[in-house]
Amino acid sequence: MYTKSVLLVKYGEISLRKGNRAHFEHALLDTLRLRLKGMENIRVAREQGRFLIENTAGDLDTAAVVPLIKDVFGITGFCYAIKTSERDLARLAEIGRDFFIKNLPEHVKNFRVETKRSDKNYPSTSTEISATIGEVIFMAKDEKLAVELRRPEITLWVEIRNDVYFYVNSLRGVGGLPYGSSGKGVLLLSGGFDSPVAGYLTARRGVEIVAVYFHSPPFTSERAADKARDLAAQLAKFAGKIRLYIVPFTDIQVFLKSNVAEEKLTIFLKRAMLRVASRVAKKENALCLVTGDSIGQVASQTIHSLAAVETAAFLPILRPLAAMDKQDIIDMAEKIGTYEISVRPYEDCCTVFVAKHPENKPNATIIEAMEARFLAELSKLSDIAINDTQICEFRL
Ligand code: ATP
Ligand code: MG
Repeated sequence: MYTKSVLLVKYGEISLRKGNRAHFEHALLDTLRLRLKGMENIRVAREQGRFLIENTAGDLDTAAVVPLIKDVFGITGFCYAIKTSERDLARLAEIGRDFFIKNLPEHVKNFRVETKRSDKNYPSTSTEISATIGEVIFMAKDEKLAVELRRPEITLWVEIRNDVYFYVNSLRGVGGLPYGSSGKGVLLLSGGFDSPVAGYLTARRGVEIVAVYFHSPPFTSERAADKARDLAAQLAKFAGKIRLYIVPFTDIQVFLKSNVAEEKLTIFLKRAMLRVASRVAKKENALCLVTGDSIGQVASQTIHSLAAVETAAFLPILRPLAAMDKQDIIDMAEKIGTYEISVRPYEDCCTVFVAKHPENKPNATIIEAMEARFLAELSKLSDIAINDTQICEFRL
């Protein structure tokens, strides 16, 4: 007979994806194993709709394990549990009681015991098991803790499987979907605050990210490109893997600067970026583009501007930050560790080429008509840029 502490890992929405469920479960299992591979005697197993993480030699050091896996996309929660091979109900009630009392916060006034019995051969019903264990706890607490079946402050969960599990509290995971389970997208990653957050949110929904950074030497320094590299590396800590294209953009910028009116320059630059990013997407078999645009944040992000820019893309553009406030975005950047990279002062290409009075209500039709006059030449420059692109890959 043994009793030891283990971790139960729950995942949510994968269960919605019927056909691919096993595939996603395996992907998630691989991710967990990869992140825990440095630890000894760790076993990660899939068991009836959730994962079990245990130490084959005894108690699991949950304090060491959880930080390594708490950010994995697709995981909805972690339950600190004990697992026991005991089957006798009277003994189980004692084990459950001791575990519960050890984990009971001081202020709690009422509780409930809830049993899930997936081993249908177990001789008592769920209700009987809950009642028996509840009674033992009630007596042990000298009746100071009431039983509350409807809205208890705390619940002791009991799961009767091949072994028996007890847990009380669970820690929320980041949720989302396993990385890569929603296809691929190309993220336009600048050195700013917004696009890394947009990338994180999209990756959390299961989209594998290929990032594209437009680099404009000598107007932007190598340290600005380093920012993009470091941001991609930071995103890879969550995603596991990010490929980054560093596209030389100077010639396109210089060309556009001499061919369009200053107040329209940003719109044309953004269109050129979307075009090149769409080509990268095609090469990568990606199905969408992702930007860090947030409505009205700057002149080029009014809805008019977004509409005038959008038609240059061959693919749908996701803008996960469109309806978010700057402060919410900054808060999130801090949480995911991109803030301190984005805050570094190096200029990006848009800051260098920005007009003093950019137009904020461009007309898409007029923009497209103007662009048509030099599109062939722009296209050639895009080919050259893509040929000269530097590709790097970042892993966890
Ligand atoms: P960010 O904080 O992401 O830089 P921003 O508020 O500075 O955004 P813009 O510079 O207008 O806004 O950029 C809007 C979006 O265009 C960015 O979120 C990003 O997706 C894309 N973008 C801008 N500059 C670049 C660049 N140099 N390389 C790649 N993408 C870029
Ligand atoms: Mg920017």
